[in-house]
Amino acid sequence: MHGLMMQQPLLVASLLTHAERHHGGQEIVSRRVEGDIHRYCYRDLAQRARKLANALAGLGINQGERVGTLAWNGYRHMELYFAVSGSGAVLHTLNPRLHVDQLAYIIDHADDRVIFFDLTFLPLIESVASRIKSPKVFVAMTDRASMPAKHDLPIMLLCYEDLIDGHRDDFSWPLLDENHASSLCYTSGTTGNPKGVLYSHRSTILHTYAAALPDSLNCSARDVILPVVPMFHVNAWGLPYIACMVGAKLVFPGPALDGKSLYELIEAEQVTLSAGVPTVWQGLLRHVAERGTTFTSMRRTIVGGAPCPTAMTTEFQERYQVDVLHAWGMTELSPVGTVCSFKAHHLSWPTPQRYAVQAKQGRGVFGIDMRIVGPDGEELSWDGQVTGDLQVRGPWVTSGYFGSEDASPLSDGWFPTGDVAKIDPDGFMQITDRSKDVIKSGGEWISSIDIENVACLHPEVASAVCIAARHPKWDERPLLLIVKKPESALGGDELLEFFDGRVAKWWKPDAVVFVDAVPLGATGKVLKNQLRDQFRDYYLTA
Ligand code: ADP
Repeated sequence: MHGLMMQQPLLVASLLTHAERHHGGQEIVSRRVEGDIHRYCYRDLAQRARKLANALAGLGINQGERVGTLAWNGYRHMELYFAVSGSGAVLHTLNPRLHVDQLAYIIDHADDRVIFFDLTFLPLIESVASRIKSPKVFVAMTDRASMPAKHDLPIMLLCYEDLIDGHRDDFSWPLLDENHASSLCYTSGTTGNPKGVLYSHRSTILHTYAAALPDSLNCSARDVILPVVPMFHVNAWGLPYIACMVGAKLVFPGPALDGKSLYELIEAEQVTLSAGVPTVWQGLLRHVAERGTTFTSMRRTIVGGAPCPTAMTTEFQERYQVDVLHAWGMTELSPVGTVCSFKAHHLSWPTPQRYAVQAKQGRGVFGIDMRIVGPDGEELSWDGQVTGDLQVRGPWVTSGYFGSEDASPLSDGWFPTGDVAKIDPDGFMQITDRSKDVIKSGGEWISSIDIENVACLHPEVASAVCIAARHPKWDERPLLLIVKKPESALGGDELLEFFDGRVAKWWKPDAVVFVDAVPLGATGKVLKNQLRDQFRDYYLTA
């Protein structure tokens, strides 16, 4: 029909061309694995991404083929993000924290043609290489001077800078179908083999628009964004794409994710917005408290991947005036699903009630439709009380897993998240558990997350995990595992008394076990299944 809007496919490369044209001089700063700080701007990024696209063509990479990366957050990884997807191949980000057998499985399953890796991962790549079926081309993401003198790889090792140096910087990004695949990320797979989630150009661009909005991650050209969340974990929550769309300065931390290194980078580059999982922020907060210093530029931090304890929100906001944006997402959701931004009427609420809102995972961003359902699939009400299985649907929610012959995971067109949640009348969703972590005491559900939240409020608790342990009378009862702060003499009874008046009586855990550390999985989350195995019979044998 005449007079309609232009037909332009939504393509990842357009983010880069936009950034080059409108924000060409905006900086991208990276701490490198080589140890130094590297700086350049979006103009350089675009030019090198085009050279890299020519290099990929030179390596014989065709459209639709997978290109693996095993890399920290940095500018070369960013170049791969755009060169690979932009030229029509599929960027497959590999999580180096996975077990080597799982990595080999994923690389074979995705049939990666080339693997680009940061030098830190050479030993890992060497052990993976001996386990994978088809030979690959390996590229070390460094320059000639830093290339390893020797290695155990079965075939020749290429050097990233040499590879792109030999190529021209003119490349026309192909006009792809917007439903063409752009990137691939496997879920961390705490049970069974990891499953691949395949994003399209269209889903990526729509997700980028939605995630950048003021009530979402709230990113603008005036921001200096530090994605601590890795680029190998659900595209660093979309921040590399968002930064291009809005023209924000980007700061990449490389491999140095300890509190001191992060703090120094935040201050040196005057970061305004950061993003990461609670475990990373714990290290940062500890460092800042020990040094008795403060944040001079950081105004907001996005906390997701695991529940953000109220104690952490309070510390960020009251001690340092850094607003916490609690967000929920999944690999299957690209990842942003909900973000906890206040509505106008919350602003006049008393402080404790505002913190109660911020403990929720937030409201759905436009594009994500959600509902909670009961055991028979019936939709449950949004009364803020009743809990049910959380389901979502939308243009950046997966419809199935890559290369999987299993039946579709969808139920009635909805994706079952595996999370148990309640939704309040304002539309704020709160996760009470993973469905497999729920504690069922005498037929009633107890939220392990609520219990952990209360324990973390105690000043001598460093971290808290609540799990279900089998119980002779109640089937299951909550058991609390606690890592104490250094030099704390906190006793179990004292901590349990702390729960009085803070949770319903029958929710109070029956016992506390003090542990030195809790096991963390590949994405920095507590491996509750491992702890459940270890402590399952605690109440039966105690
Ligand atoms: P990511 O860690 O980036 O969110 P994953 O796919 O690895 O992505 O994990 C998704 C799961 O992590 C969710 O289904 C949920 O159980 C948990 N999760 C993510 N964000 C939160 C949050 N803010 N609070 C509680 N759980 C969360």
